[in-house]
Amino acid sequence: MDGNFRTNFVREPSALRQHPALVLNADYRPLSYYPLSLWPWQDAVKAAFLDRVDIVAEYDEVVRSPNMVIRIPSVVVLKDFVQPQKRVAFTRFNLFLRDEFRCQYCGSKGDLTFDHVVPRASGGITSWQNVVAACAPCNLRKGSKSLRQCGMSLRKPPRPPSAQELLNMGRKFPPNHLHESWMDFLYWDAELQA
Ligand SMILES: [Zn+2]
Repeated sequence: MDGNFRTNFVREPSALRQHPALVLNADYRPLSYYPLSLWPWQDAVKAAFLDRVDIVAEYDEVVRSPNMVIRIPSVVVLKDFVQPQKRVAFTRFNLFLRDEFRCQYCGSKGDLTFDHVVPRASGGITSWQNVVAACAPCNLRKGSKSLRQCGMSLRKPPRPPSAQELLNMGRKFPPNHLHESWMDFLYWDAELQA
């Protein structure tokens, strides 16, 4: 529960089975979707003990200390609202997330690299507007040519994503283990399919 509580989440698949708690902001939305905001159970119990969170749901399992028995929290909600970050950092991860982990030329999902749309040799800079996820074959095919020269086209114009757009994108990539008590909070405000 220090300055890192916003980003220090359980990421390893094996730890997902060790009773982590889904962490909700004070508005009952997950603090983060990707990675999903999950604390190790020890952190969740500690935060509840320090009165920083309310427990919303619990596992059947308990932990015992010499003088008490506690059911492990499966969902906790912060008592103080944390302002979502507005600025989106230009990182490899965020760029892949913007592009949905797909090659922006052919749509394939494997073997992703980065491609400068306007090649660096032609003065193209490294920016949201000029870098896209690309599979190795497309990257090779494009080489240091312009789009027109190589006859390739982008699936969508590259631009800086908003924090909200990245958040929504992150929902498409849930961890491979989800506890049933988390479901209501992950999808309750998702758009309904017609
Ligand atoms: Zn490709």
